[in-house]
Amino acid sequence: MDLFEKVRNYSRGKEILNTSLFPYYRAIEENNGPIVKMDGKTVIMAGSNNYHGLSHDERVIEAATTAIKKYGVSNNGCRLHNGTLDLHEQLEEKLAKFVGKEAALTYTTGYQTNQGAIVPLIGRKDLIFSDRDNHNSIVQATLISRGMFLNKNQIVRYKHNDMNHLTRCLRQAPMDAGKLIVSDGVFSMSGAIVDLPNMVRAAKEVGARIMLDDAHSIGIIGKSGAGTASHYGLDDEVDMIMGTFSKSFGSIGGFVAGSKELIHYLKYTSPAHIFSASLPAAQAAATMASIDILLAEPERMEKLQTLANRLRKGLQSLGYRVPEGFVPIIPVILGDDMLVFKTWGALMEHGVFTNAAVSPGVPEGHQLLRICLMSTHEEEHIDSILEAFSKVKNSILVS
Ligand code: PMP
Repeated sequence: MDLFEKVRNYSRGKEILNTSLFPYYRAIEENNGPIVKMDGKTVIMAGSNNYHGLSHDERVIEAATTAIKKYGVSNNGCRLHNGTLDLHEQLEEKLAKFVGKEAALTYTTGYQTNQGAIVPLIGRKDLIFSDRDNHNSIVQATLISRGMFLNKNQIVRYKHNDMNHLTRCLRQAPMDAGKLIVSDGVFSMSGAIVDLPNMVRAAKEVGARIMLDDAHSIGIIGKSGAGTASHYGLDDEVDMIMGTFSKSFGSIGGFVAGSKELIHYLKYTSPAHIFSASLPAAQAAATMASIDILLAEPERMEKLQTLANRLRKGLQSLGYRVPEGFVPIIPVILGDDMLVFKTWGALMEHGVFTNAAVSPGVPEGHQLLRICLMSTHEEEHIDSILEAFSKVKNSILVS
């Protein structure tokens, strides 16, 4: 059989591929943060993780430009050999301080960071306890770990944010196995926050380690945006904090932070760190500039929360199914693939870009439009988004 038969027969999405309802791979022609141009039309960007609009901040652009001029556009090698810059070392120190840990290690993407941080820790006798709704980068990291060392039974996927289930799973595990609990701090699709206090209780009972993916928490919650552990005042109870630069920091790249010992170990054992070219200077410099801005302008976090509350309440009053929450990820649950596409297309007609999440990306019945806000949105943008949702409700959802 031809290996490519599956390629020829791949039909998913083809029915709507060339229609105005197709929500994926839509090219941006101009990007001004909260406002972008697509298909020649100006729309409100309500689907970006650029939570503080920093990828467009003049100070961040200036820092990146200066770094490119000094170091070039690539480091052409890995950290271990020729790819370490003084900027990496400065950035790692800043990151560790930002999240309240002893040390940090950077990677070239956030996706890579999860693989890089998890794989070297998991040996033949160890177990991973992973939330069923964790980000795909964590899921893939557990699969790679399995490829290297584990059998299927050593990966336990507990029910989403269900700490009773996690506790039962941990209690059933062999006493002498090393145990890593890994979870999103804030879940990327729903905006739900992990039940950390009960996770810590469960972990302590059996001596498990905790790793949080704070991609959507850093710069959003906790003291000065330090993330989920800080939000709960449980800074010392989380062993590993992972974060990305592609969201609040407006750049690209990722990091893991923890004890000096842990970071030293990862530095010499983490394949995704050792065998991939290092973070470009522009990204390192941009991330540092963003951290400085977030620390100097804490009002950004407050504004983002106020905007998110205004939009969440507004959508709920319009009758949309929007769960409570306080982060700038606002899911509008529609529960059907085609309804998601139609609503997405109608919102675009009214000048609003959102993210369409259909199955299997989200569970059947929970298909949704995900809205993400930026602190550079203004109240008028929120009102325009609400107006568009109101018009769409009358034209599509009622008929
Ligand atoms: N973890 C989570 C929870 C994410 O949402 C993402 C990206 N959407 C990543 C990791 C990967 O980060 P990056 O896109 O910066 O590689």
